[in-house]
Amino acid sequence: MADAIWNEYELFCPVCNAHFKQLVVLHKVPGNFDIAPYLAGFVESHDHKAWQGAQRQKEQSSGSQAPPEA
Ligand SMILES: [Zn+2]
Repeated sequence: MADAIWNEYELFCPVCNAHFKQLVVLHKVPGNFDIAPYLAGFVESHDHKAWQGAQRQKEQSSGSQAPPEA
């Protein structure tokens, strides 16, 4: 679709206290479309538990391979 716009936004989640990237596809949005509440919906509906679990796994796997700094 030529009218679809793909945009990657870096969103901040206060629940996870972290930034995460969200790919957003917009179809034929009006010129005055307010993206902010739309993006806020992504933050609210994203899976905090799964995201935090994935981050913990990342930390653990990188921590076991590399010595901690300082
Ligand atoms: Zn979250």
